[in-house]
Amino acid sequence: MTSTTAPDLILHGGPILTLDGGPLDVTRAESESTGDLAVAIGEGRIVAVGATPDVLALASQGTRLVDLDGAAVVPGFQDQHAHPLVEGLQAGWLDLTRAPDVRAALRFLAGAAAEARSSVGVERWVEAWYHPSAWREARHPTRDELDRIVPDVPVLLHHGSGHAAVANSLALAYAGITTERPDPPGATIERDASGEPTGMVMGSDPAAPFAAALPPLTPEALRDAVRQAGARLAAAGVTAVADAHLGGLGDPVSELAAYAGAVLDGDFPQRLTVMPGLAHLAAVDEDPPTPDDIGALVPPDVRDRIRVGPAKFFSDGALSTGDAWLREAYTDAASRPPELSRGRPAHEPEALEERLRRAHLAGWQLATHAIGDAGIEVTLDAYRRILSTSPRADHRHRVEHAMVLEPDLLRAAVQLEVVAVIQPEFVTGTGDVYLDRLGERTRDVYPYRRWLDAGLRVAFSSDRPFARGAPLDGIRAAFRIAGPSGRRLHAEAGPDVGEALRAWTSWAAWAARDEGHAGRIVPGLAADLVVLSADPTTIASELWAGGRDGVEVLATLVRGRAVHGEVGHG
Ligand SMILES: [Zn+2]
Repeated sequence: MTSTTAPDLILHGGPILTLDGGPLDVTRAESESTGDLAVAIGEGRIVAVGATPDVLALASQGTRLVDLDGAAVVPGFQDQHAHPLVEGLQAGWLDLTRAPDVRAALRFLAGAAAEARSSVGVERWVEAWYHPSAWREARHPTRDELDRIVPDVPVLLHHGSGHAAVANSLALAYAGITTERPDPPGATIERDASGEPTGMVMGSDPAAPFAAALPPLTPEALRDAVRQAGARLAAAGVTAVADAHLGGLGDPVSELAAYAGAVLDGDFPQRLTVMPGLAHLAAVDEDPPTPDDIGALVPPDVRDRIRVGPAKFFSDGALSTGDAWLREAYTDAASRPPELSRGRPAHEPEALEERLRRAHLAGWQLATHAIGDAGIEVTLDAYRRILSTSPRADHRHRVEHAMVLEPDLLRAAVQLEVVAVIQPEFVTGTGDVYLDRLGERTRDVYPYRRWLDAGLRVAFSSDRPFARGAPLDGIRAAFRIAGPSGRRLHAEAGPDVGEALRAWTSWAAWAARDEGHAGRIVPGLAADLVVLSADPTTIASELWAGGRDGVEVLATLVRGRAVHGEVGHG
């Protein structure tokens, strides 16, 4: 328990949930919830945790003693799949999810276009984000609707999942999206029977066809986006976060520069893991850059704060845009184009496997977006073949999202020791769409108890801004397992609260191979902590499910320093 560093801060007088059973421990956290512990912090690290009198005895003259007054301390939340830069940029776009229906959304756009017209001298686009599930009609706006309301300003609407976009005719013209234009990587330009673009673009990078025409993202705009994201994450209790698609905006170097600048200015206090989208950086038949190659792009003065994590790939699309790839047809296939009745893969399976193999051989931990059962199956099959020809102990290869994990796929994931990095809050926002599109296949969407009992390794994350993203909301969602209407996806049991906490802390750190830095409250690890208004493990899951838990983030500490809220009273 003791250390030679004199503590500069001691927290006592409230439950300290250490989650200290080792990074993969699955014992319940309840037993560790006790008001009798205290934690001492020095030089940004946890120097001692133990019985309160023993820890208080370490205090010297310069030690600040903070009585938690019953508030609880847990390890800082780790959101190891998020998109901070996109979140910050999205904060500058028009938010159409506030509209009740498509008509109201179009009126919002008309207002934004009027503003854009009046700003002289700059070429203005109207960018907005929308989510059909927020609207009465639950559909995408069409190019024609956009043209009628805004014919003379380019309009680009980003779908809230990040997997679709809709443009008006002027935006298509500015971007040179014509009948002849081929699809760029990561984007499928939808066309009507005559080959004319419909205005809809789908894929993992749906804004790609517009990238060259959009006003350039200046270094200042990127920096500002990172700053906004850092503050929002801190308010939610997040002390470590991953950018799950470095290079997704087109240029990993300028994205890293924006993060580095904000880190150095103290505007982005979180520890950042970057997950490069290697499909942008190498052709399918080329060896991709290695982790060291990407690490060399991180400015040297922030290498203790920005680390290179897994390589990111895409196996398929999203359920909310209907291009997650399923083994059997979507339940609502009758209302979809026949070639999309099962969704579609992001790459031909052979090409995906070739990319994964080369990345594995280059030393990468793999993280593959796979949502539909067919998308997950080709990912796990590729992992199995790659690991059997080129075994690697403790590989921790990941499946991101892992939504339609049918029983055979669950068995395969456990057997391959694959980590599922999932987003409980997706269900809160889009669960009704899953019920309409998957039918009874929703029984295999996030059955937490069954997964954990089967031995699946799970980490929670948010994918923010594609969900609102607060970890406490993610815990609520795991107990609720229902969409906005309240219809449940299935009747399977949820996790216990201790497991849900671990999935946001120690298990998430493990999934990012960063368990040696933080994720538990043990001496030697970084003092990345969250102070909560109540001990989460004493609150019944029904209260969490109904959002009546009353738990709030009071303060967030990174390296022992408050980056949100206050610790103690001054
Ligand atoms: Zn993502």
